[in-house]
Amino acid sequence: MTENFAEIKNLNVTYQTKKNVFGELQNIYAVNNLSLEIKKGEILAIAGESGCGKSTLAKAIMKLIDAKSGEILINGENVLTLKSRTDLKNFYQKVQIIFQNPYSSLNPKMKIGKILAEPLEINTKLSKEEINKIVEEKILKVGLDKSCLNNYPHEFSGGQRQRIAIARSLILNPEFIIADEPVSALDVSIQAQIINLLKELKEDFNLTFLFISHDLSVIKYLADRIAVMYLGEIVEIGEKEEIFNTPKHPYTKALLSSVPELISTNKEKIKLKGELPSPENLPKGCKFHTRCPYVKEKCKTECPDNINFSKTHRCKCFLYYN
Ligand code: SF4
Repeated sequence: MTENFAEIKNLNVTYQTKKNVFGELQNIYAVNNLSLEIKKGEILAIAGESGCGKSTLAKAIMKLIDAKSGEILINGENVLTLKSRTDLKNFYQKVQIIFQNPYSSLNPKMKIGKILAEPLEINTKLSKEEINKIVEEKILKVGLDKSCLNNYPHEFSGGQRQRIAIARSLILNPEFIIADEPVSALDVSIQAQIINLLKELKEDFNLTFLFISHDLSVIKYLADRIAVMYLGEIVEIGEKEEIFNTPKHPYTKALLSSVPELISTNKEKIKLKGELPSPENLPKGCKFHTRCPYVKEKCKTECPDNINFSKTHRCKCFLYYN
């Protein structure tokens, strides 16, 4: 059995907003009692519409925003309790993130060589020569030429900038990379190149990936397992084949139905109705009930628990209760 690299237990991430004109505040749940395990060496994809909490989850794991409660265990250590500089430094050597927009994630005033060297200068005691050697190795690894180290980010195309951002994410030899919609800002013609690069790097550096995307075609190509997220909760999780061949949750079926080439003619198709409700007005009971074609009275007031279909496949839906 493959060991878990990371375990997220009962994670809640909230933000505060004004409840009324008197300035009273209320907690809005962006991630809601979420539990998930990430196996060492796998690519776990998180699928779901924009606004369902995928990026909030990524930021909470990276400690870019505070979690309200729960645990995020990486190699058994709860990252939510890390406070000291040394602990945080060790954490950011192990865990890196690639963002959607490579331009805003690269300092426009720094040359690429400096952008790549800086994490090594801050986090290691390597000599200048040793740092230069690693920087050159990494830029070649992502398919760019050494000559680009003397240029600024604005001198590159979107695809090249994302390659540079990937090189930077690799510079400290991390074990785990969170890729948050890494190709959705790129031209379709470039997307496949970046996806193939990530796949290649995963093998070469023995990486574990959390891959966040709204694009099921990309997920189908890249992922080992898939977790489907809706309004801050994982509503279904399973091996890629389980999710694509035998989806259970009506929301998963609706997402698959929206990509005709992913769903065979004999599969049930569900048209997704309406907009994703705002987290400020979270529905009671099953959060999907306002859009679900199978909604029953019970769904409007009670939250379904996970039902297991195999050791790896589970979903939250009353349809499967006896
Ligand atoms: Fe639909 Fe009810 Fe299942 Fe929710 S629990 S997905 S509302 S059938």
